[in-house]
Amino acid sequence: MPLSGELFIGSERRTTPRTFRAYDPAGARALEPEFSAAGVAEIEAACALAWSAFDAYRELPPQRRALFLEAIAQHILEPGEALVRRAHEETALPLARLEGERTRTVNQLRLFAAELRAGDWLGLRCDTALPQRQPLPRPDLRLRKIPCGPVAVFGASNFPLAFSVAGGDSAAALAAGCPIVVKGHPAHPGTSEWVARAIVAAAAETGMPNGVFSLLNGPDTALGAALVADARIRAVAFTGSRGGGLALMKAAAARPEPIPVYAEMSSVNPVVLLPAALTARAASLAREFAASLALGVGQFCTNPGLLLAIDGPGLKEFLDAAGGAVAAISPGVMLTPGIHRNFDQGVGRMADEKSVSLVARGTESAGANCGRAALFSVPAGSLLANPRLAEEIFGPASLLVRCANPGELLQVLAQLEGQLTVSLQMDEPDHAMAQKLLPVLEHKAGRLIVNGWPTGVEVSHAMVHGGPFPATSDGRSTSVGTLAIDRFLRPVCYQGFPNGLLPEPLRDGQIRQWPHRLDGSQRPGSTTP
Ligand code: NAP
Repeated sequence: MPLSGELFIGSERRTTPRTFRAYDPAGARALEPEFSAAGVAEIEAACALAWSAFDAYRELPPQRRALFLEAIAQHILEPGEALVRRAHEETALPLARLEGERTRTVNQLRLFAAELRAGDWLGLRCDTALPQRQPLPRPDLRLRKIPCGPVAVFGASNFPLAFSVAGGDSAAALAAGCPIVVKGHPAHPGTSEWVARAIVAAAAETGMPNGVFSLLNGPDTALGAALVADARIRAVAFTGSRGGGLALMKAAAARPEPIPVYAEMSSVNPVVLLPAALTARAASLAREFAASLALGVGQFCTNPGLLLAIDGPGLKEFLDAAGGAVAAISPGVMLTPGIHRNFDQGVGRMADEKSVSLVARGTESAGANCGRAALFSVPAGSLLANPRLAEEIFGPASLLVRCANPGELLQVLAQLEGQLTVSLQMDEPDHAMAQKLLPVLEHKAGRLIVNGWPTGVEVSHAMVHGGPFPATSDGRSTSVGTLAIDRFLRPVCYQGFPNGLLPEPLRDGQIRQWPHRLDGSQRPGSTTP
């Protein structure tokens, strides 16, 4: 079935007179068809439906929501090649990468379905009544987590499947029991439509309330701002630029009833090359670094944008080898002309800095919107004097910081902004230095990596894809992995309730089915409901 360009307002499809088109960044041409742009009426309709669906959706047994997520996963696979080809046309990402991303998206939905059945996310607790306690009796206290309400999800440009319409944020919010209104990314509306069809089909098949999902497209920022301002939206999930995330945080805070914004924005993912590792394996570190830098034309939030090393044996060898490896990186088409322009401007600004030296550029760009890799270096003192040098350039660009001694390395790390990741390349003799750095690093990042590179994020239970500002707007959360569900839940305590009035999972006889804490002791669930 050809793409229609329609908006999805619950189960209704809608067209509007204002339209826009997708753009093929490799061919530098607009793509068919025209996509309807949502306006005030569509925001109103989607939010009203989401609100009306909320109570029915949140009261469904977790097993029903799990079946819904699994059905979405199944329907996403149905268009086969067509979905991946359209994503390729809209983003210039290679077909193999997009196939991998589709698998990740499907597995992510299935992981959240399994999480729903496991039940830890409910956070059940019971403190039994102590009527004889002196000097005061204790009432019966029971806690569960409930969903916060409809969530506005902003699709990310750099993950058209895994962080877009049915991506990690959507899966986490739907698992939590929150209807979602997705603000599709204008860089891949066709991909979004394919996935929206899958969600709508899954919702109908599994009997979900109308309004559990809507997709609003539009080519400008007004749509997203109006969506966040709608009183029925109760939380926001966003991945993109620092400017975009900050604007949405401001809009959310200015509402009569402010709401949380979970924005993943900006990170340079420092990689510290500790002395023994640098001496022992400078050449292989350089090769691994260049591979990580070039992955996806550097368009990952976990791109290694900052390297730190202490002047000494191995550093010159590393710089020579890294320079050679970066010079051999072929330019790749970037996601959008805007992202390509921002990248070129960022690299240009860095090249103009007096204290910064160019180590290498990738090979000359041949086609439209191609990002040419860049590696720079700077003395630590200059970075300490001008911390803005450590800001993200989204794309394949990195800056190596040369520190005079371990003290200066620590100083630079202490000055850095919050990060998604910090990596340590180290060998046995480096352990003592690593030990000294760790307390600072824990303050800086959500994920600390030893002898690995930051690109490649496992979707699992122990993953943290988050970090202090500006990596994210709320460093207590993660947007990848099953803990991501927690962003859309809030705890409610039921005090002194008769058993029949308690919500089902907290009732005597039912609570034992789920993992829970009874008077402080952790108890496993007895069955899989
Ligand atoms: P973006 O400009 O932040 O846009 C992401 C989404 O947020 C889009 O749907 C956009 O809508 C919306 N948005 C942006 N600013 C807004 C505002 N002020 N008010 C309301 N909505 C707003 O990100 P992008 O288009 O993906 O790429 C632009 C730049 O973002 C890149 O050059 C890069 O620097 C950065 N980026 C970072 C990451 C990361 O993981 N750290 C990922 C992707 C991009 P409209 O497009 O309709 O305005």
